[in-house]
Amino acid sequence: MATRTSAAGAACPACGSCSGRVHSGHERRITDAAVGGRRVVVRLRVRRFRCDAPTCSRTTFVEQVAGLTCPYGRRSARLHSVLTAVALTLAGRVGRGGARRGGCQRCGARWRARWGARWREWCGA
Ligand SMILES: [Zn+2]
Repeated sequence: MATRTSAAGAACPACGSCSGRVHSGHERRITDAAVGGRRVVVRLRVRRFRCDAPTCSRTTFVEQVAGLTCPYGRRSARLHSVLTAVALTLAGRVGRGGARRGGCQRCGARWRARWGARWREWCGA
């Protein structure tokens, strides 16, 4: 999916002043949450603006799209929240399974091989 922003300007992340002076532009590829089991990649044309505030240390900055992009991120905010929810659910299952069986066994063993010290920290083992 190819798209671009339509706002006339963007706010500088350092000083907050709004700028409409475009310095340059480039395309970003952002992976979004899957739709109907298909991977979604957004090709977003973003602009780099000049900050004209005399006291600002930032000379240029790239516009961000709320809810879609973050600086240097390659995943959309939506995909990030989906992955976080999945990770928390999986971590909860391992923790509950370990407590129910009096110690992490089959599923825990797989996680232990992969996560090592972090697994022990989560499960308290
Ligand atoms: Zn600024």
